[in-house]
Amino acid sequence: MDITGLTIRELSDRLKQGELSSTGLTEAYLKRIEEVDGKIHAYITVSREEALEQASEADRRIKEGKDVTALTGIPIALKDIFCTRGLRTTCASRILEDFTPPYDATVVKRLKDAGAVILGKLNMDEFAMGSSNENSAFFKTLNPWDTGCVPGGSSGGSAAAVAASECAASVGTDTGGSIRQPASCCGVVGLKPTYGRVSRLGMVAFASSLDQAGPLTRCVEDAAIVLNVIAGHDPGDATSIDAPVPDYTDGIGQGIKGMKIGIPGEYFVEGLDGEVDAAVRQAMEVLKDAGAETVDISLPHTEYAISVYYLVATAEASSNLARYDGVKYGLRVDEGRGLLEMYKLTRDRGFGPEVKRRIMLGTYSLSAGYYDAYYRKASQVRTLIKRDFEEAFKVCDLILTPTSPTAAFRLGERMEDPLTMYLSDIFTISCNLAGIPGISLPCGFTSGGLPIGLQLLSRPLEEQTLLRAAYTYEQSTDWHKRRPDV
Ligand code: GLN
Repeated sequence: MDITGLTIRELSDRLKQGELSSTGLTEAYLKRIEEVDGKIHAYITVSREEALEQASEADRRIKEGKDVTALTGIPIALKDIFCTRGLRTTCASRILEDFTPPYDATVVKRLKDAGAVILGKLNMDEFAMGSSNENSAFFKTLNPWDTGCVPGGSSGGSAAAVAASECAASVGTDTGGSIRQPASCCGVVGLKPTYGRVSRLGMVAFASSLDQAGPLTRCVEDAAIVLNVIAGHDPGDATSIDAPVPDYTDGIGQGIKGMKIGIPGEYFVEGLDGEVDAAVRQAMEVLKDAGAETVDISLPHTEYAISVYYLVATAEASSNLARYDGVKYGLRVDEGRGLLEMYKLTRDRGFGPEVKRRIMLGTYSLSAGYYDAYYRKASQVRTLIKRDFEEAFKVCDLILTPTSPTAAFRLGERMEDPLTMYLSDIFTISCNLAGIPGISLPCGFTSGGLPIGLQLLSRPLEEQTLLRAAYTYEQSTDWHKRRPDV
C-alpha cells in the first residue's frame, strides 16, 4: 500500500503504534515528490534536509511519548506565502525571489511546535492574486486530474500537492477564495476559517482585512486536526480573535439532524455549469437524508460582491505592496541613476502584470477625488453584504452553494481576459467580505473526470458546525476517496 495517500489520522495512528517512523514517512514523500512533481510542478522549494531533521526529532518525541500531537511526525507543506526562518519565501514573485525570512510566521511556529515536518514551499499566484496559478512568476502548477487544466488558485500548489499525494496536508491562504476554489478544482477539502481565527503574523500581506490562512487536506477530519494546531489568539496580530479554541474534531461525528441549511437563490443562476449544478443539488439530497432541512434564503447584495472585492482588495494591496521598494526587502535593481529610478526599476522588474494591474487599480480608487466614489462606497456595500449573512443566519445554521461556477478550466483559457478570471471567485468572495468561515469539499465529478466542489458557510466562529456537516456528507459519499492517476 502507498502510505503517501493516507489521511493524517491514519498516519498518526501508525506513527504512534510504531508501525511507521516519521523518517520513513518523510522519505516516502520526498521520493513521491521526486517522482511526480516533474509533472505537477507544485513545489517552489523542497526542504529535504530540514524535513529529515524535523522527522528524526519527531521520531524521538514519539519514542519518548513526550508532547505528541496528531501532527507530530506528519509531513506537510506550506503555500510560499508563509515566512519560514532560514527557508526562502518567494510569494511566487521575482521581487522576493531571494528572500529568506529571519523568523517563522505564527502558523509555521505552531506547526513546528506540534511536531509537524515541513516538506517545502508550494507554488501560488504571485502575491496570491489569481485563480489559476498562472500568475506565478516562476512556472505553472498543473491539475493532477488533467494536466491540461489549471489547479485553481491562488493556493493551487497547495491543493495540487495534496491531490497528488506530495504531502499529507498543506496550509494555504484565502482572501477571496484561494483555499476553497483550488480545493474544489483538485478534489480536496479546503477550509477558510473565520477572519481572525488564525494569526496573520508572518503571512505576506495581500488584503489585510480579508486574508486568512487555513488547511487543505484529503478529508474533513484532517482539516479539523490541522485547524486545531494553527487556530488561536496571537498578540502579534492585532486582528486575531481572542476566543478559546475548541477541539475541532470533537462532535464531528454527531450528525446534522434538525440542522437548517439555507439555499441562496442568487447562487443558482445563469453561468453556473449544468454538471456543477446537478452535483450540488444531489449533495443537498444527501444532507436531507442525513436529517437536515433545507430552506430557501436570499443574499440580495450578492451581485455587488465582485465589484466590492476588487475595490477593497486592490486598495489594500496597493498599500501593502508599497513596502517592496528595493530598500528593505528582496530585489533591488539599481543602475546608479538615483533613488527614484531605483524604485521604478525594482518595481517594474520585480512585479508581474497582474500585480501591477492591482496596484494601479488600488492606488486609483484610494486617490483624492475618487476615494468617496470607490473605496468608501465599496466599504459601505461590504457592510450590506455582511448584513445579508446576518439576516440569513437567523433562519438557517449553514448555507450551501457551489464552490465555483465551473470545474477546473483549461490552461490559458482565462488569461486574456482578467474579468472572466475574476468571475471564477463569484461564489467564494462574499464569505471573505463578511469574515465568516467556509469549507469546500468534493461532491462529484464532471463527465470529463474533473472534481466538483460543494461549499458550506456558517456563522463566525462556528467552524465546528461547518466541520460536522461536511463530515456527515463525507461519511455518506466516497468522492474524497478517489485519487488522480498522476
Ligand atoms: N482569485 C482572487 C484574487 O485574485 C482571490 C485570491 C485569494 O483569495 N488570494 O484576488
